[in-house]
Amino acid sequence: MHELSLTMNMIEIAEEHARREGATVITSVTMEIGALSGVMPEAMEFAFEACSQGTLADGATLEIRRIPALGRCRECGKESEMESLLDGCTACDSFALDILKGEEMALIELEID
Ligand SMILES: [Zn+2]
Repeated sequence: MHELSLTMNMIEIAEEHARREGATVITSVTMEIGALSGVMPEAMEFAFEACSQGTLADGATLEIRRIPALGRCRECGKESEMESLLDGCTACDSFALDILKGEEMALIELEID
């Protein structure tokens, strides 16, 4: 499962940050997941439960913010929000879109104690 290694990675980063701040517990983790990142939020929550056991993030709340992707049409130049790779340009219906954002996944907020 793709989400498992991503989650382990994310928890490592969170722990590193928490230790640097002298914290012993991570109470909440907020992440942004791009609509085209291929990450399923439900799978991420499941993976987080499993991977956080025994770490500083054990019992932490995971908040996932899904952000829409943005693509720019190669035909007409218009930028459209995309929910999936099958979404075309909203102006001319072309599917030749360059993806500007939405493939990323990031840890954006951490609450520690
Ligand atoms: Zn277009």
